[in-house]
Formats: sequence, structure tokens, C-alpha cells
Amino acid sequence: MKEYICIICPRGCHLTVDEENDYAVTGNGCLRGVAYGREEAMHPTRVVTSSVRVRSEKYPRCPVKTDLAIAKSDVAKAMLLLDGVELVPPVHRGDIVIASLFCGEANFVATRDIDE
Ligand code: SF4
Repeated sequence: MKEYICIICPRGCHLTVDEENDYAVTGNGCLRGVAYGREEAMHPTRVVTSSVRVRSEKYPRCPVKTDLAIAKSDVAKAMLLLDGVELVPPVHRGDIVIASLFCGEANFVATRDIDE
């Protein structure tokens, strides 16, 4: 059995997922909790937010995030990739900072504009 708190709505139901019983979910207040609990147990993913260096005295860091959720097991490796990045202004929101993480569809993208 695995236990999770559903984050889909503010009610925060305490879910229990039984991996030995076809990932049956209990404790959910609605069906969205079933989908969330099963996904968390079988293929947990996260949108990753962080920041990278910028060659700028005024704005030395630029916030970034993945444009898709990636496997939770890849989050630490993805964060390490950011250590080697330094952006050169101008930077525009949505610019791809690292493309095709782990040869997948997710990219790290800038989430603010930095002009200088
Ligand atoms: S299971 Fe349904 S009611 Fe409970 S927190 Fe999740 S979305 Fe909200």
C-alpha cells in the first residue's frame, strides 16, 4: 500500500493505493483522486522549476521550468543539467534553455524576459 495526499483540489484527500490489487484507490472524495493516486503510484511526474545563471549584472539568475511534466525519477538529473547553463541576454519568456530533456518532448524554458 502507498499513501498520498491528493493535490488536485484544496480538500486534500488522503489516498491509499493498493499496488497488489490493480492499484485500487481508496480515500478519494471524487474520481479525480482515483486518476491522481494511480498516476502517482505507477508513473509519478513533476513539472520542475529552478533558475539558471545569466551573463548580466542586473539579473544574474533567470527562472526556468519544464514545459511538460517529467518522470519524478529524472528530476535530480534534470536539475544537474541546469548547473552548466549560462544565458546571454536578451532572454525572452518561453525561450528554450535546454531542449528535449533525456531525448523526450520536455524542454526547460525561460519564464521571464531579461533584456540586459
Ligand atoms: S480526491 Fe477529489 S475531492 Fe479529494 S482532493 Fe482529490 S480532487 Fe479533491
